[in-house]
Amino acid sequence: MPDGRAARMLTGAGVSPGAGAGPVVRVAGSVPEPPAATHGGTAEDARGEKAAATRALEAVAADLEACGERAAAAGNADARDVLGAQALMARDPGLADGVAAQIDGGTAAARAVYEAFAVYRAVLASAGEYLAARVADLDDIRDRAVARLLGVPMPGVPQRDEPFVLVARDLAPADTAVLDPALVVAFVTEEGGPTSHTAILARTMGVPAVVACPECADLAEGTRVLVDGTAGTVHVDPAETEVSAALRRSAARASLLAESTGPGATRDGHAVPLLANVGGPQDLDAALAAGAEGVGLYRTEFLFLDRAHAPSDAEQEAAYRAVLEAFPQGKVVVRTLDAGADKPLAFLPPPGEEPNPALGERGLRMLRRHPEVLSAQLTALRRASAGLTTRLEVMAPMVTDVEEARYFAAACAEAGIDHPGIMIEVPAAALRAGDLAPEVEFFSVGTNDLTQYACAADRQIGGLARLQDAWQPAVLDLVALTAEAAVDTERGCGVCGEAAGDPVLACVLVGLGVTSLSMSAPSLPLVRASLARHTLAQCRRAAVAARSARTADEARTAARAELPALPELGL
Ligand code: PEP
Ligand code: MG
Repeated sequence: MPDGRAARMLTGAGVSPGAGAGPVVRVAGSVPEPPAATHGGTAEDARGEKAAATRALEAVAADLEACGERAAAAGNADARDVLGAQALMARDPGLADGVAAQIDGGTAAARAVYEAFAVYRAVLASAGEYLAARVADLDDIRDRAVARLLGVPMPGVPQRDEPFVLVARDLAPADTAVLDPALVVAFVTEEGGPTSHTAILARTMGVPAVVACPECADLAEGTRVLVDGTAGTVHVDPAETEVSAALRRSAARASLLAESTGPGATRDGHAVPLLANVGGPQDLDAALAAGAEGVGLYRTEFLFLDRAHAPSDAEQEAAYRAVLEAFPQGKVVVRTLDAGADKPLAFLPPPGEEPNPALGERGLRMLRRHPEVLSAQLTALRRASAGLTTRLEVMAPMVTDVEEARYFAAACAEAGIDHPGIMIEVPAAALRAGDLAPEVEFFSVGTNDLTQYACAADRQIGGLARLQDAWQPAVLDLVALTAEAAVDTERGCGVCGEAAGDPVLACVLVGLGVTSLSMSAPSLPLVRASLARHTLAQCRRAAVAARSARTADEARTAARAELPALPELGL
C-alpha cells in the first residue's frame, strides 16, 4: 500500500478457506424496464430503430454462443446446449417481426423489444408447464437485448479473460454454471450465510470466499482486493508484499494437508469414512484428488439448475453412472432432486406464490406432487448402477415424518433401489428419528437445513449468520438424538451438511455418534488430519463439553479444550 493511504478492511463470514487477490468484477443487478418511448416517427427513424434492435438481438445471440463455447471448453457441454438454444430464441424470425411491427407503430427500439417479448412470454407462460419453464430463458434474452439498447450493464456474471474476484449481492447456483474456476480467484457476496449455496459452491470449486459482507456493495469495478476466505476479510488496495505473504501462507497450509492421506479414522483407529459432496461428474476429479472414500451427497439438482426442461432418462443415467463408476470399491449416496426454495428448478415450479419458500414445497414435498419425476429419477439410478460394484444408496431431502419416509421407501422399492435413506434436515424428523428409522436403512443429517429450521434463520440471509451456526447447542442436541436413534436401530448416521467439513466440529460429530462425514472435497484433508490426531474418547469428551455449553461460542471453546492437537494444524 502506498504511504499515507489508510488500509481498508471489510469483514464478513469466511466460508471457503485460502487467499485470492485480483481486480473486482461485479455481477450487474436487474435491467430496468425501458420507458414507453416513441421514436421520431419518420420512415428513416423506424429503419434506424429496426437496425438497432436487430443488431442488439444478433449481438446477444453471438454472446450466448461464445459463452456456451467457453463453458464447453471448461468441461460443461450442457451449458453450451442451453445457451445455444437461447441464441436460437434471440434469432427467432417471429420475434423479429414482432419487434418490427412495434417500431412501425412508433415505439422506440428498446421498448419495442420489451413489448415483442411480452407477447411471446404470455404465450409461453400459458402453454403448459414445459413451455412455461422457458419464460426465464426468454426474460434473460430480453434483458440482455434491452441492456444493449439502453447502454446499461449486462445482467448476470460477466465473462473475463483475466483472473478476477467476483463480487455480487448474492449468486444464484445457475449464475455460476459458466464460471471458470481458473479465472475466479475469490467470491465476495453481500448476502448469503455460511451454509448458503454460494458458500457451498465456492468450497466445491476450491475458491476462497467471504459471504455476508454488506460493505462489499461499495467496491468499485476494477478495485484490487485481497480476499482471505479463512479469516473472512477483504483487504482493499493491499500492498503487493501483503498479497504475496497471504498467498504463501495459503500454499504452505495446502502442502501440510497434502500429507494427510488414507481412509478417515481417529488416532486410535475408529473408522470414520470420509466422503465427498458432489454436484455432478465435474466434481469427481477434486473428490478423488482429495482422497474421498466415496460420495456421501450427490446433489442431483445441481445437474439441472440451468435447465428449462426435465432431463431425459438417458441423460440422467449417464450423469449418475459417471459418478458411480468413480468409486468401484466405495459407496455413492445420491439425493433425489431437492428442488424449491433456494434451488428452484424451472421444470418443477412451486404450485403457487410462496411467501416463505424455505417452508414451502421443496425436496420430497415437491417430488410427491410430481411422482413421475421421482420414479424417472429412481429408475435412471437403478439402471445406472446395473453391473457396477459401487454400493448405491439413495436418499430423500426434506423428510418430516414417518408417512413421508414410508412413501419414499416404497417408491425406492418399486423402482428396484435397494438401500433407501432419508436426510434429517427438519427438527421434527430429528426429534422423532427413532420412529423414522425402521422405515429406511440410513440417515444423513443435513446440518445446513437442520440449523436453518432449528434456529428459524433463513440460510440465504447474511445478517443471520450468527444463528446459522451448527455449533448452536440446540443443533448439537438434534444431531445427538438422531445418532442415538440410529445406534438403537442399527442404522448408519452420516452428516453431509457443511458442519462435517469443519475440522473441529467433525471431531464433535464423531463423538456424538455420527458414523461418516461428507463434505466439499477441499475440506477433506483438514478433517482427515484433525480426526487422525484425536482419539475417539477425546472426540466423545469434546461432544459432551460442547453439548453442556449454553451458546455456540461456548460450545466451540469447550470442545477445543478437549482436542489438544488442533494447534498443530494451525486451528
Ligand atoms: C443440508 O441441508 O445440510 C444439505 C446437505 O443439503 P443442501 O445444503 O443441499 O440443502
Ligand atoms: Mg438441505
